[in-house]
Amino acid sequence: MSRRHRHDVAVVGGGVVGAACALALARAGLDTVLLEARPPTVWQRDRPDLRVFAFAADNAALFGRLGVWDAVRGARAHPYRRMRVWDAAAGDELCFDADRYGRESLGWIIENALLIDRLWAALPGAGVEVRCPAELEAFDHDGEAVQLRLAGGDRVTARIAVAADGAASALRRLAGIGITRHDYSQRGVVGYVATEKPHEDTAWQRFLPGGPLALLPCGDGSSSIVWSLPEDDAQHVLALDDARFGEALARAFDARLGAVRPLTPRAAFPLRRQLADTLLAGRILLVGDAAHVVHPLAGQGVNLGLRDVAALADAVVDARGRGVDWASPHRLQRWARRRRSEDTLAAWSFDGINRAYSNDALLPTLLRGHALGLAGRIPPLARALWRHASGI
Ligand SMILES: Cc1cc2nc3c(=O)[nH]c(=O)nc-3n(C[C@H](O)[C@H](O)[C@H](O)COP(=O)(O)OP(=O)(O)OC[C@H]3O[C@@H](n4cnc5c(N)ncnc54)[C@H](O)[C@@H]3O)c2cc1C
Repeated sequence: MSRRHRHDVAVVGGGVVGAACALALARAGLDTVLLEARPPTVWQRDRPDLRVFAFAADNAALFGRLGVWDAVRGARAHPYRRMRVWDAAAGDELCFDADRYGRESLGWIIENALLIDRLWAALPGAGVEVRCPAELEAFDHDGEAVQLRLAGGDRVTARIAVAADGAASALRRLAGIGITRHDYSQRGVVGYVATEKPHEDTAWQRFLPGGPLALLPCGDGSSSIVWSLPEDDAQHVLALDDARFGEALARAFDARLGAVRPLTPRAAFPLRRQLADTLLAGRILLVGDAAHVVHPLAGQGVNLGLRDVAALADAVVDARGRGVDWASPHRLQRWARRRRSEDTLAAWSFDGINRAYSNDALLPTLLRGHALGLAGRIPPLARALWRHASGI
């Protein structure tokens, strides 16, 4: 069908952001095709995915509007009710409590594979044409449409194409959109652990000179860790046996939850800040990691990507409601400008926090301890920080 048919939208990349984008635009009434190079990993209840997100409340609301939140929540989404952040060197602590904001939880801890699984299950019912495996290789465009060429020679035509094909986006490169990139020379070491003391439904984060260590509360009393470490230190902890890795983690965590026991193998991801020069070139739009990659310390990577999607779907719904062209250049430009400024602000904020805290010089240590304490003592400041993370 796609060979001759002109879709409204072609979304390239079926990760969390691309699948949510295809679903949201189809629900907004657009004829949508999703192109994904590789079949997604099937989520398995007894084999938790190592990539885990602190999912913000505004994105849970987006999934609710898309009709998939109940299916995600019913499978495995662990609410976290508190967030405690403290600094290894400076002492002061920042604490957020859902009760204080009149909420049941601050957000949910959810696996990447589960989100993808539930989004993909909803695509056919929403009328999205899914093509997988379908790898984008080249594209051409004129004033009216984009023509995407897939490996194997098939072509797909659409009014706009959305690049949701991740940090190394082929569509972004083919569209000639540049990036600025900074490697943190750190890796995020991830895995599941059991702790001697209960996690108290709390997302814990300790800032250490080498980078932050987060313990995110999951079901059955387990926790998912994201430990940002300089390259060499990451290689060192990856090579430790389970007993020594548990000891290293407990030490790094100041034994706050007692002894730590690894439950799964570990994995590691390189950490970087990467921003595309623009989110829009002609009829190509960028969302998710194709547009921005941020440090995982605030757990905002996928949350920012889903905010790109929510804003795009809102703009389409608004235009269609007024009976005007949803794909007009100025409308897309307005979306792109707004999203890029929010994404840029977020990327640089997390960068600043990482630089200030991955540092044991005396002055930054004194200042940041004071900053955490101050934020905790001034309710409006704490509320602003929490609003930024939760998106509400
Ligand atoms: C250690 C670590 C911890 C993290 N923790 C958090 C967290 O707590 N909270 C949070 O919000 N974020 C977190 N993130 C960030 C998060 O993982 C990413 O922001 C998110 O996965 C990006 O999703 P995406 O859909 O944009 O891209 P991806 O997940 O990279 O998906 C891109 C998709 O495009 C497909 N594709 C690629 N090329 C092509 C092509 N040519 N043709 C067709 N398809 C193609 C790929 O197969 C893939 O399915 C973390 C990241 C790391 C590294």
